[in-house]
Amino acid sequence: MSKIEILKGNIIHAPVFGALEVLADGYIVLKDGVIEGLFRELPEEFSAGDVTDYADKLIVPSFSDMHLHAPQYPQLGMGLDLQLLEWLQKYTFVTEARFSDTEYAKRVYSKLAGNLVMNGTTRVSAYSSLHREATLVLMDELEKSGITGYVGKVNMDRNSPDNLRETTEESLRETRIWIEESLKRFKNIKPIITPRFTPSCSNKLMEGLGKLAAEYGLPVQSHLSENVDEVNWVKELHPDCEEYWQTYDKYGLFGSRTLMGHCVYSSKTERAAMKRNGVWVVHNPDSNINIASGVASVRIMLNEGLNVVLGSDIAGGASLSMMRIITGAIKTSKRNWLLTDKKEPFLTVAEAFYLATSAGARYFGVGPGFAKGDKLHALVLDDSAFPETLHSDPAQRLERILYMGDDRQIKERYSEGVRLQAEECGCKSAL
Ligand SMILES: [Zn+2]
Repeated sequence: MSKIEILKGNIIHAPVFGALEVLADGYIVLKDGVIEGLFRELPEEFSAGDVTDYADKLIVPSFSDMHLHAPQYPQLGMGLDLQLLEWLQKYTFVTEARFSDTEYAKRVYSKLAGNLVMNGTTRVSAYSSLHREATLVLMDELEKSGITGYVGKVNMDRNSPDNLRETTEESLRETRIWIEESLKRFKNIKPIITPRFTPSCSNKLMEGLGKLAAEYGLPVQSHLSENVDEVNWVKELHPDCEEYWQTYDKYGLFGSRTLMGHCVYSSKTERAAMKRNGVWVVHNPDSNINIASGVASVRIMLNEGLNVVLGSDIAGGASLSMMRIITGAIKTSKRNWLLTDKKEPFLTVAEAFYLATSAGARYFGVGPGFAKGDKLHALVLDDSAFPETLHSDPAQRLERILYMGDDRQIKERYSEGVRLQAEECGCKSAL
């Protein structure tokens, strides 16, 4: 017999882009963890269900972080006076090379998984390093903590230090073994094909990865037009391609399940190619400012009908908190608004909240918002520690939490229809 669970509280979600739906003192009814419906009054048929009353607290969808580099977690907040290519050489590659040590990987990744849950992120698309064993450790730690989504073993066979470079054959062989192993071992964390970026991957490797993606029906993630020097470098490496996106497209790595990080310098034609192919743009506002890459014109991409989601891009980004990324996306869009003589409208709270919740969920084939038939992914937010305010509307309270709050305002987390236990997910030891 199925189990009926009912959550009561101030429900806020973003079922459409640009508008929040609020059910003050509403009910979410779950049947075996799956959303049966949202109600202002509890229907009679569910009156015997088990009610968890969150009283005045807010119940919102949990966050999706669609671009983060797990092995860069130890360098969070460091080296940010450098720009991308120098930053990769001096900080990132040195840090990532340490993940040949699986014990080290275990220590770092258990902490990372706990900290993601603490911050209310229950869906991810994450980069690992090129190490197969450490990648499996990362998948294991995420799955144990209750997080769902994708993890990619990174591929790199050129333009990187000796201790962080595979031969082409080795890279493809290791990737196949990793795919097979991870498909067998994990339920909620799946493999995603992950060429680091064009400068790190030879044509032969790209070609092999395109074939693996097709053979196993896997999604793809990589970087696109993040930084001016990077874009120029790609032009030198691929004189046959007019634009960066073509270096992925010609190997079948630029389709409707592809996540492309950044797209700061994507031209009109590059954006049109993304739209045509159904590629998803991952906007990483914190990272783009920290390593001074530039500011993506999210409003233009949205107006052109592109799929846009948000990412922390740690450790270019310096925080795992998607609250910081949501407000970061708003702030950088306000910079664009000012610099375009107020012609390019900035993102509203409702819009940015949608990108961090509903848009990410849509990439995984669910949502938007608390959609009937989806397993519950939710957070219970408590703003009682904030000063009393006359503005008691739940949507205004959510805005204040997004700007002022952190993990201390997150009282409960639900993932895949289950309430995560702090002890089990490692939350308590996360910091
Ligand atoms: Zn990245």
